[in-house]
Amino acid sequence: MTGRQLITDAQNTWCPCCGNFTIQHTLKAVLSDMERAGTSLDEVVLVTGIGCHAKMADYLNINSFYAIHGRALPVATGIKLANKKLTVICCVGDGDAYAEGLDHLIFAAKRNIDITVLVHNNRVYGLTTGQYTPTSPLGFRGRSTPAGTAEFPINPLELMLASGATYIARGYTRKMDQLKQLIAGGIGHKGFACIDILQICATFFNMTEYYNAHIYDLPADDKSDFLVACTKAREWDYNSEKPIALGLFYRQVFPTFEDRVVREPVQKPDRKAVISAFLGAQQ
Ligand code: SF4
Repeated sequence: MTGRQLITDAQNTWCPCCGNFTIQHTLKAVLSDMERAGTSLDEVVLVTGIGCHAKMADYLNINSFYAIHGRALPVATGIKLANKKLTVICCVGDGDAYAEGLDHLIFAAKRNIDITVLVHNNRVYGLTTGQYTPTSPLGFRGRSTPAGTAEFPINPLELMLASGATYIARGYTRKMDQLKQLIAGGIGHKGFACIDILQICATFFNMTEYYNAHIYDLPADDKSDFLVACTKAREWDYNSEKPIALGLFYRQVFPTFEDRVVREPVQKPDRKAVISAFLGAQQ
């Protein structure tokens, strides 16, 4: 199928001004470019977790799999290992990927499996109306923390660097052109790509003004230096008033999991010979 209508007729229930719209239309633009360049969209699979982000599986007209909470990565891993020619993309939430599915995310990065993960990081559980997540800032007041959370947020970029991801970037839903480049780059990268997307949750944690006042773009220089990437990733800790870098932090070429997994042909035993040997041993 070519030139397909990529937005489905499903009723869209995202709140007005939700950053998920930007991610949906950016991904649609990337897919359209891929199709124009000769990729069959029948060979693209989208896997989602659970959360507001996950409705992407209903709203984009490509092969998709709605996994359970935090389990998008194991499903995506199975799909990629079953058919490594497929382009596998995961849309996951920050609660979904950095809490419930954290171990799966770390292992997928560690393996360097060729999957592109888009983390819709709105820093709040939006679908369940406003609980804190691993990336909510200290003092975040939500349904589960009315007096403010007493926890510091994790830094997902540092986590991905330490885990072995080979393409690590941060995007923002108010910078669509840059986000498109980052997503296209992640899909084009052969290896595990994690793009942490600062996604506006218009209803429960609208950080638009804060982000707009703090963001700047990383230069398009060499991204293969691990220590430089670590320093840049640590510049903003998802909590402070420091500048927030956007763009590609790290890219490295490394063999992928699916290319390293050795599939030995299964040798079926000769049943008669096994039985004869067994009976002979009994006599
Ligand atoms: Fe978007 Fe937040 Fe509404 Fe969910 S609750 S649809 S993340 S604005």
